[in-house]
Amino acid sequence: MLMLIDAASLWYRAYYGLPSSIKAPDGRRAGAVRGFFDGLAVLARRFSPTGMVCCLEGNWRPEWRVELMPGYKAERAQPDGSEDTPEGLDDQVAAIEALLPALGIATATHPSYEADDVIATLASRTAEPVLVVTGDRDLFQLVDDERDRKVVYLARGISKAELFDGEAVATKFGVGPNHYVDFAVLRGDPSDGLPGVKGIGAKTAVTLVNTYGGIAGLKAAAAEEGSDLPERQRKSILETTDYLDRAVTVSTAVTDVDVPVVDGALPHSPADPAKVEALSAEWGVASALARFNEAITTPKA
Ligand code: MN
Ligand code: MN
Repeated sequence: MLMLIDAASLWYRAYYGLPSSIKAPDGRRAGAVRGFFDGLAVLARRFSPTGMVCCLEGNWRPEWRVELMPGYKAERAQPDGSEDTPEGLDDQVAAIEALLPALGIATATHPSYEADDVIATLASRTAEPVLVVTGDRDLFQLVDDERDRKVVYLARGISKAELFDGEAVATKFGVGPNHYVDFAVLRGDPSDGLPGVKGIGAKTAVTLVNTYGGIAGLKAAAAEEGSDLPERQRKSILETTDYLDRAVTVSTAVTDVDVPVVDGALPHSPADPAKVEALSAEWGVASALARFNEAITTPKA
């Protein structure tokens, strides 16, 4: 099984999940570095992947998505366009990004795409079972029982990560993974700046998606004279067709990003032991890295 990690989701969870008193020898905050590798170790033990790729956020808010929808992630953007990150996280991200290749863990990224898109692309390239590790709800769209693609959702922290297959997605949201995007677009998603459709809340969105077969079916029903779509909703859909089309494109993960082919095979030993050693000492994370190495190299029963 190939484990595709939404690395930013994991280091944000680690940053907020560990006490700020965890410090590197030089006094900088180090909880995110420690928690990231401890989290990966926990996930590797629980799910026994044979491969792992850490997918990085090459562009957290791609211009092409903002052009389609100016409000996309707007609330999280600083005036210069960069993401508002909490104090002391940037240095730790740089350390994690240096440690991964030194440990021999594959990374993948593209300067014009989000980790969502890189993950969707790598998933679509393999016939192997895939486990996506993320705290980003958008990626529920990748769940696919037939292809054995599941999501480990980090909402409530790494130790309480929940495994989602198609049935779990349907139980939580009321729609299957193939209609998760339709549901999110209709209902709206404030954290990404998706306004949704006026007068359509979560419950109505679920009913509409399941009755008409997603937004495509809903648009067809709305355009049809004498359809059984209630008049009020028919009007809302016809008035927001432009939003619906744009929002579906914005919310759909791209599956053909031009990222190099990556070999996610787990290493038997670190690729650059001297560098691991130096970073480990600099950040005071030797035991977390030892636990991680053990978790990925111990033969699975
Ligand atoms: Mn994301
Ligand atoms: Mn997303």
